[in-house]
Amino acid sequence: MTAPGLVLATDLDGTFLGGSAAARRQLYDALSARDDVVLVFVTGRDLDFIRDLVDTPGMPRPDWIVGDVGTTVVDGRDFRPLAAIDGEIARRWGDAGQRVRALLADEPGLQLQPTRFRHRVSYYYDPARLRPETVAKVEAAGFDCLLSAETFLDVLPRGIAKGPTLLRLITAQGLPADRVLVAGDTLNDLSLFQTRLKGVAVGNSEPKLLEAVAGFDWVHRSAEPGAAGIADALRRFGLH
Ligand SMILES: [Mg+2]
Repeated sequence: MTAPGLVLATDLDGTFLGGSAAARRQLYDALSARDDVVLVFVTGRDLDFIRDLVDTPGMPRPDWIVGDVGTTVVDGRDFRPLAAIDGEIARRWGDAGQRVRALLADEPGLQLQPTRFRHRVSYYYDPARLRPETVAKVEAAGFDCLLSAETFLDVLPRGIAKGPTLLRLITAQGLPADRVLVAGDTLNDLSLFQTRLKGVAVGNSEPKLLEAVAGFDWVHRSAEPGAAGIADALRRFGLH
C-alpha cells in the first residue's frame, strides 16, 4: 500500500452496518476500490460475531479489529492479538471476570450478556431498575463502568475503552493521525470522539451521545444515518 490516505475507524452496529442497503453497498464498494485505506472495526461485539461478519460477501476486510468495547485488538487478516496492546489490557484486567460477576450477582436490573468474555464483563441493563450505587460499586472496585444505548452496561479494565485502545493502535502501527476518521452512534463511542481525531456521529446517534459531543468542533454531526453518514463525513473532511 501507498501511504494511507484514509484510516477509517468505525463502530459497526448502527454505524458501518447502519443506514440503507444501498448506502452500505456504495460505501463498501468505494472503500474496496481504494488501495490507500486502512479499515479498523471498533466495536462492542466479540470476535465470533466479527468472524462471521467479515465472511459476508461484499463486506470490506478490516485491517485491524478493536473488539469487545476496546478490550481486544487483533489483526483483521488472521485474528491474531496485537501482543503489546493485548498484554497491557490483560494486565489491567487481572483475570477479574469471576470477581466482577460475583460482585454484581444480586444487583437489580442486570442480565449477563451471552458471550465469552476476555477482558471485560458485560450486561444488559434495565434503565428503570439500575441503581446508581451499582455503577459506584463497580468503580470503587477499580473498574470502569460504561453505559450505552440505554441497554448495555460494560465493566472494563480501568482506562480501557474504544478510544484509548485505538490511540494505542495508531501509535503502535505508525498510522497518520491526521488521516483518521472515527465514526459512531452510541455512548460507548464517546471515547472515540474524546481522542480529538476527526469524527462523525451518524444521523441515528443516541441523544445522549449528541449531547456529549456538543462543542467538539472536530466531530461532524451528520444528518445521514449509518453508512451514509460516514460517506457524508468523508466528503466533508476531504478524505473521499
Ligand atoms: Mg453502534
